[in-house]
Amino acid sequence: MKSKSWLASRAKRTAAYIAVIAVCFVTGMLAAWPGVSPAAIRIDHYAYDVLLTRQPAEAWEPRSVVVAIDERTLGALGGVPNMRTIIAGALDQIANAGPKAVALDVTLHDATNAAADARLEAALRATRNLVLPCQSIIVGNAKQWEDPLPRFGVLARGAVGHVDHRRDADGVNREIPLAEVEGHDQRWALALVAFRVAQGQEIIESPDDVEVGDLSIPAPRSSDGRPMLIRYLPTGIPTISVMDLPQSAALLRGKTVFVGVTALSAAYDRLVNPYLQEVAGVTVHAQAFETIARGKFLTPARPFLVPVLCVFFSIAAGLIFSLRFGWQAWVLAVLLLIAAHWAPVTFFRYGIVFPYFAPVSVAWLSIVGAASFQYFFVQRQLGRSESEKSRYQQAIHWAAHEMRTPLTTIQGSSEIMTRYTLPDEKRLQLSEMINSESKRLARMIQTFLDVERLADGHMELKREPFAAADFVDACLRRAIPIGEKKQISVTLDRAVEGTITGDRELMEYALYNLLTNAIKYSPAGTEVHVWSELRGGELRLSIRDQGIGMDSKELKSIFKKFYRTKRAEASGEAGTGIGLSIVEQIVTHHGGRMEVTSEPGKGSCFTMVITAVITAATSGAASENAKTSDRRG
Ligand code: ADP
Repeated sequence: MKSKSWLASRAKRTAAYIAVIAVCFVTGMLAAWPGVSPAAIRIDHYAYDVLLTRQPAEAWEPRSVVVAIDERTLGALGGVPNMRTIIAGALDQIANAGPKAVALDVTLHDATNAAADARLEAALRATRNLVLPCQSIIVGNAKQWEDPLPRFGVLARGAVGHVDHRRDADGVNREIPLAEVEGHDQRWALALVAFRVAQGQEIIESPDDVEVGDLSIPAPRSSDGRPMLIRYLPTGIPTISVMDLPQSAALLRGKTVFVGVTALSAAYDRLVNPYLQEVAGVTVHAQAFETIARGKFLTPARPFLVPVLCVFFSIAAGLIFSLRFGWQAWVLAVLLLIAAHWAPVTFFRYGIVFPYFAPVSVAWLSIVGAASFQYFFVQRQLGRSESEKSRYQQAIHWAAHEMRTPLTTIQGSSEIMTRYTLPDEKRLQLSEMINSESKRLARMIQTFLDVERLADGHMELKREPFAAADFVDACLRRAIPIGEKKQISVTLDRAVEGTITGDRELMEYALYNLLTNAIKYSPAGTEVHVWSELRGGELRLSIRDQGIGMDSKELKSIFKKFYRTKRAEASGEAGTGIGLSIVEQIVTHHGGRMEVTSEPGKGSCFTMVITAVITAATSGAASENAKTSDRRG
């Protein structure tokens, strides 16, 4: 069964991992957010253009023709001042060819030369299925429609379409607003009106679509005026110069004809298409018309689809690096990246325009985040197991060191007993010593194992009540002779009271360690005092010495494993620097704490503060016993 601490640390790690992935997701989404990153929009546009222009060519015969008033026409027929006469002449020839509809992309708002206007009016009257343009203009602060002169407008019988189009930040035209509202007046796009006129049907709108007969154009109503992406025909729209009409008029039969200015000097609405070709406004309208006529529309991905797919990429990245390792994880990560790069391509095939930057940035960031997390986690684990290994080695070293004393005693005593004939009393004394030292050895081994398990978090502490006086007595009894060897007196200044609940063996180990340290780090002829106080449910057990002491900086580190002060090293006393770390662990596992005060050269005071309760049974008698018996020993 896994320990609680193991489960808690695993839950913590999982939470941190999820947090890292979530941050990567949010950062990726923010980086792709239109308002935040103009670069992302550019990349999305660029990807769109690549996808659009690399589409496999389809057999589609254009249903529209552009009749262009080009440089050649203007040059030959008197230029812009003669525009209405030029248009009138062209319309006459077009009408004779029998087109399905004729859409004019030249605004006829103003009256010009009376004769020319009359001439144009006659030509417009003779044109079947005529569509005229209007455009939005700003008057004062408000926008309004600029319509053809009424004398021309009536001839279109309500078929007036706006000629506005959109130019993205990079100057490329990709869409037109199918409907635009100025004031309360909604106008359909010239291309759509031309289509409905050519079809002889009405436009029916719903919040999501615009319908013309059987055709449904997915162009939801929005503040952007029902935008429709133009599926530019790679082959372009057949274009005939007005000058070539006499010989090419037959090409117009049955087609919808868009008449407009393409001459650079006169066309004010020249744009760039996704093929990066310059196109005149009239061609843009004809391309929009072809998009409608083909009935194959490109629609932006639904708003929820982008975050959903990005969440999927993030989660997938997280799962890959948590469930797989090494090359397997990397192979899967590369596949995920390919999927993220490929997603827009697949969607495009189904007519859905999916942003390129969002999935790619989210997938990359999530993979980098997940991989880094796992890498650093593994590194940390590695570091931890390294330090555990070295800790274990040191612990073995310490155990070997600590065991040497009782072993030497046992060895020495047994040797004396075998070599010499001893009086019975001495023999008994030596065999008692062997017995007690071997018991101590056994206890030490047990303690060592317990402490190891305690450090691993795998040990449940014993929870038994015992008199504090008893365990203090036991420790003093062992420490006093060690002090005597160094001419250091160890005295208990105040009787110990209270009952502690916990592991007596371990508590004994802790106190004994503090006592032997006090003796070890004190010069001969000094004193070690043990003082106790039971107050407010806490037993304070202090061991004060007059030894080498420590400065405040050293005090901060003494409970770290394997830390030894320079002073201690210089004292020539052997040590491993592990004892105090174990003492602290034992005391904290008993719900207590350690307090230390010290001054270099003057001595130290280590205080164990542990929860204890007052009981009548515990008294100073036991401690007094310790004193007397210790003096004996
Ligand atoms: P060890 O005594 O084996 O080195 P400990 O963990 O018991 O290891 O003690 C860590 C260090 O704390 C000691 O090396 C010593 O520098 C310092 N120290 C502990 N007890 C005392 C003391 N009573 N007086 C001065 N320094 C002490």
